[in-house]
Amino acid sequence: MSKKYFIQTFGCQQNTADSERIASQYEARGFVLARSLEEADTLVVNTCIVRDRAEEKVYGLVQNLREKAKRGPGDLHIVITGCLVGAAAREPSGKLMKRMKSRLPNEEFLPMEDVGFEHEPKRATGKMASIVISNGCNNFCAFCIVPFSRGKERSRPFGEILHEVQEAVEAGKTEVVLLGQNVNSYGADFLMEKIKEGAEYELPSGKKVKPVMVKHLGRHRIPTLFPYLLEAVAEIPGVEKVSFLSANPWDFSDELIDVIAKHPNIDRYLHLPIQAGSDKIIKAMNRWYTRDEYLALIERIQVKVPDVEFTTDIIVGFPGETREDFEATLDIVRRVKFTKAFVAWYSPRPGTAALKMPDDIDIHEKKRRFTELDHLILRLSGREHLIEKMGKTGAERVSE
Ligand code: SF4
Repeated sequence: MSKKYFIQTFGCQQNTADSERIASQYEARGFVLARSLEEADTLVVNTCIVRDRAEEKVYGLVQNLREKAKRGPGDLHIVITGCLVGAAAREPSGKLMKRMKSRLPNEEFLPMEDVGFEHEPKRATGKMASIVISNGCNNFCAFCIVPFSRGKERSRPFGEILHEVQEAVEAGKTEVVLLGQNVNSYGADFLMEKIKEGAEYELPSGKKVKPVMVKHLGRHRIPTLFPYLLEAVAEIPGVEKVSFLSANPWDFSDELIDVIAKHPNIDRYLHLPIQAGSDKIIKAMNRWYTRDEYLALIERIQVKVPDVEFTTDIIVGFPGETREDFEATLDIVRRVKFTKAFVAWYSPRPGTAALKMPDDIDIHEKKRRFTELDHLILRLSGREHLIEKMGKTGAERVSE
């Protein structure tokens, strides 16, 4: 009888896409999907470390899962993968990995780098296919653990991505989401390794193109292929909608805007993380744009793509954020009128640059700013009806 696997996934859309690849690897080895944890011979836990105390939570979770499955290590093999394993594998002292191995002596640790792209991902039902185009990030925003957990940015080959989209369409998918930590620098890694500056790149179609240069991290220009990739995906027959996550403001080229404007099947909801509205805080976050540059980019996009709507990510209460800095965030929110914003209050993460900064905003003040901003976004996006509901939870959180 075939062995059965079960995957428990935490975190973002990229982790979900990674789990689809893990599933395809198990199936290629003859495993079948268990309907529940209780039925599984192998359980894969795909971890996220964006939340607080991630490491402790994984230890507790493994213990709970073993209790729930009512089976010991001989009967249930548990595999830990995802961001926690990535961070542990890259931590120079090796202490985190050593601690994890001693706390979880019977479990296997699987770095995502060991899970290849050779099998078609086992996709969820529905019309949407998530396609990973790159993994990792070179940006080192001060608050973010991703460059440590996923390592340096690595782009998948252009043709391999198109092939995966084609396969997804043939399997009945009509919507494609291109995923990466920084999609709009797609290709920079292999272009810089293999192609001299100014040289042309041959697309799988045979067309030769000049890579699009973008001003990256305020210091240098890098070549990217994202506008060409997005266009090639949008032109695949059967792709009714294509979106991408996440694009960073500093790599968003005019060529990319032109491609979006030209193809109506490219999603008009654009996610463009601002994180903060004050130049002082944006700089402290090690992000390479000013509020004026961000607003100018929004305007350039609106001119060419009039039906565009923006969503964003914002952190309130970052170290050193004064009331005046926070007012600058409120101001930028009023100007852009984001349709949606994913707001978080700052909390330090191990290994990040911000950990060394004094976490000087009182938690109650962070939560007050969170609620104020949340309500403003709801009002501006015409969702006032949610304020009463959200307001209650906000108030509860403030009075904790
Ligand atoms: Fe993290 Fe910044 Fe990279 Fe996004 S761009 S993954 S926030 S380091």
